[in-house]
Amino acid sequence: MFDRSRRNLAHWFALSMGGILFAFAGVGYCLNVEEQLRFFDEELIQQGKTLATKTQYSLYQRRQTPTKNGMSLNGGLVYARWYDANKQLIQFIGSSGTKQLTATPGFQTVPTQSPAKTIWVRQLTLPVLQNQVLIGYFQTATPMNSLRNSLNQARLFLTLGVPVTFGIIGITGWFLGELAMRPTHRAYQQLQRFTADASHELRTPVATVLSNAQVALMPPEDPSEQRFRLQKIAETAKSMSTLINNLLFLSRHDGSLAQTILKSVDLSELLRLLAVEFAAQAPTQNLNFSTQLPQHPIILQADADLLKQAALNLLSNAFKYTPATGKVQIRLFTQSHHALIQVEDNGIGIPATDLPHIFDRFYRVDTVRSRQTGGFGLGLAIAQQIIQAHQGKITVKSIVGQGSTFQIELPLN
Ligand code: ADP
Repeated sequence: MFDRSRRNLAHWFALSMGGILFAFAGVGYCLNVEEQLRFFDEELIQQGKTLATKTQYSLYQRRQTPTKNGMSLNGGLVYARWYDANKQLIQFIGSSGTKQLTATPGFQTVPTQSPAKTIWVRQLTLPVLQNQVLIGYFQTATPMNSLRNSLNQARLFLTLGVPVTFGIIGITGWFLGELAMRPTHRAYQQLQRFTADASHELRTPVATVLSNAQVALMPPEDPSEQRFRLQKIAETAKSMSTLINNLLFLSRHDGSLAQTILKSVDLSELLRLLAVEFAAQAPTQNLNFSTQLPQHPIILQADADLLKQAALNLLSNAFKYTPATGKVQIRLFTQSHHALIQVEDNGIGIPATDLPHIFDRFYRVDTVRSRQTGGFGLGLAIAQQIIQAHQGKITVKSIVGQGSTFQIELPLN
């Protein structure tokens, strides 16, 4: 799928850029022809005028049969012809052409017959005026060899240069296609992994529900067994519901938050209320839970529910992964325009090799242990997503057997 998209991208890139290249080459060539022709014509007109002024205008007064002028042509001119006001040839140098002038005044590109081959010449026909009265016409021509050679060179350059450039464009398009597809490819792979992980996580509880339901549906031999099965189904369904909620949460809150939903939140107050809930839970796990929260408000623009969820996930983990008699502490303070929340425990800690991955979705250090605690490996991914959506960052320091400290850093506006 991605290879096809990449090919399509390269294809369209090459076509569009190639089109532009051809258009530019075409326009450039035409402009070049026009420019060279203009120079060529200017030179011809100069030479023609010089030659015409050497001629006595008086020859127009005399009616005579066409005669060959004794003058010689210079500057590469092929012929020079003088006609009277009735367009009849009076005098010429070089070839005489027709006796009657057929060309209109101005420039023409015409073939002229040389003994060996046809030569293309640029012909100039000028009206000759005396005291504002038309007394005749002057015509001269120069061969176009030099111009044709120069244009041939330009054509050769374009014939070789354009396909080579087109090839380079094609190769560039192929690499650009790869670059353009890379983020989509990565996102697609992530999505695929996420879907596979989510399905995998749901498969086990669904199988548990199914097998327990099948046993529960059998004629009851022991009512307590049936009740146990139903209880198991209820528990598994609850854990599935948590997983589904977490998955929905992750998909809904992807990306940064809209400014409109951000409100002024007092972080001290928010964490104080959260700490009350955990303080009540601590004795049941025989944990020593303490807080270090400032008395004064620390205000920032945030979504209070989301921030509470992030802090809750860190505290839940600290409670989950700290054995009885252990210590858990939550702290809040400010430092260089940032609010810092730290959740510290002296629990089991995290191995250094796992630390770079623990914020990945579905990543669990000890799968068996996490499953026992009901963890799906989504709590830290959710916390990180929330904090990043608030332009903050979440970091961790941990030593196996000594404990972990998670830190949330949020910008103060
Ligand atoms: P889970 O739901 O499995 O706890 P999390 O995303 O919250 O998923 O955490 C990912 C993994 O990081 C956990 O499986 C656990 O191994 C490790 N972990 C997270 N917090 C702590 C902690 N405070 N102490 C030790 N290990 C932790």
